[in-house]
Amino acid sequence: MVQRGYVRCPICDKIYQLKIQMDQNVGIFEWPISFECIECGEILTYKYSNKGIWPKDIDYKPNVDDDPVTTIGYSSSLPITDEVYMKDLSYAESIAFFSLFINLQRGFFTSEEINAFDAFLKQMQVNLLPYRSVLKELLPFLKKGNLAAFSKKMALYFDEKEYKPIDSHQLMFDAYFELIEMSYINLAPQGYVNRIGKPIYLPLLDYVEKTSVEEVRSIKDALDENGKISVWYKEEAFPYISELLTNIQKLIPAMIYASAGVGMTQHRGDLKIVTVSCNDATTYYKDGYEVLAHGLKVIVGLNNLVENGDVNIFTNPILGDVDSIGMFAKKSGGKMIEHLNAYQTMSTYFDGAMNNKVRNAASHSGGVVYDTATQKIKCLYDKNDDTKVYETTLMDICRLCHVQFLHIMEAAILAYKIVSKAK
Ligand SMILES: [Zn+2]
Repeated sequence: MVQRGYVRCPICDKIYQLKIQMDQNVGIFEWPISFECIECGEILTYKYSNKGIWPKDIDYKPNVDDDPVTTIGYSSSLPITDEVYMKDLSYAESIAFFSLFINLQRGFFTSEEINAFDAFLKQMQVNLLPYRSVLKELLPFLKKGNLAAFSKKMALYFDEKEYKPIDSHQLMFDAYFELIEMSYINLAPQGYVNRIGKPIYLPLLDYVEKTSVEEVRSIKDALDENGKISVWYKEEAFPYISELLTNIQKLIPAMIYASAGVGMTQHRGDLKIVTVSCNDATTYYKDGYEVLAHGLKVIVGLNNLVENGDVNIFTNPILGDVDSIGMFAKKSGGKMIEHLNAYQTMSTYFDGAMNNKVRNAASHSGGVVYDTATQKIKCLYDKNDDTKVYETTLMDICRLCHVQFLHIMEAAILAYKIVSKAK
């Protein structure tokens, strides 16, 4: 079923018709709508719930004789196909039947992939979305070390009958990490687990769990060189994870790629996303890039251990001038990735989540040139030379924000396992 609504750009008065896919999620939560006005560039942002579009600024009743209206298909959880994105449709065309599920099966995703994603969404609806703000709300109490406030907030969020007051800092961090782990499980679809989780991440987790306390202590010492990993998760990972989790609905339509276990979006045709603005997506990407770069040594160091039996021995021989994980951690994000990309396991793992060109472009003003009509993005990654351009799409940036987010949570979970075991 599709519901139609109209919005007007407050700057240039252009009218848009939104064809909203009434999926299972509408009515449970408020959903983000965000797109850039094709005429003037204003970013239009609304919420959608069972009460309709909010804020409601227009009562528009279309007539058969009206001029075509620019139409945008909307789904809270699926990509939008090109035929209903920024198309000027006549009245008759605009009321024609439209189903994103059917459209997406025309060569974009198989029905199995769509069904698997649907199952993932149902889980997320129950187990994650109602709690998406909890990490952010708990963070001030965690920072202050206020056990009573932390306990009370937990009790408000979760079933009070099962609640027992938290009486030590260790237990408070345990509880916080348990919530990060639950979020991770509900954000890592099966296709991602098969492609990245099982072959790369889970063996690292397993290694930390099975290794003796003495050895974990020496791993921690090596990883703490040039920056303590506990400081990294407290000061960088927690704020990023809790902030993005609160806004996670903006990225949901892009998660179908991880669910299907596929990489670059171009291989699945040209699909659009209308839950997030280009500015928000590139900001998440850029900020996540820095956080992940600073926590990368956890993943790489543990991978060195699993592959070579020593946290300081790298599989990739290109790392000639780097003879310890501490020295590796001193390199810039761009240098780290340059080295790691030449190395199959790590390049599969990152899958573009650490693209220096996107990050550089998003870091200087005017570096990201966005075309609303096509959702193509030009990244001018060298601020002194505007002929250096990397092209991508809004959907691909969103897909990579999801992958990056999973990696940041993986590094944080591994770091905490090490720190708490080494105590
Ligand atoms: Zn406008």
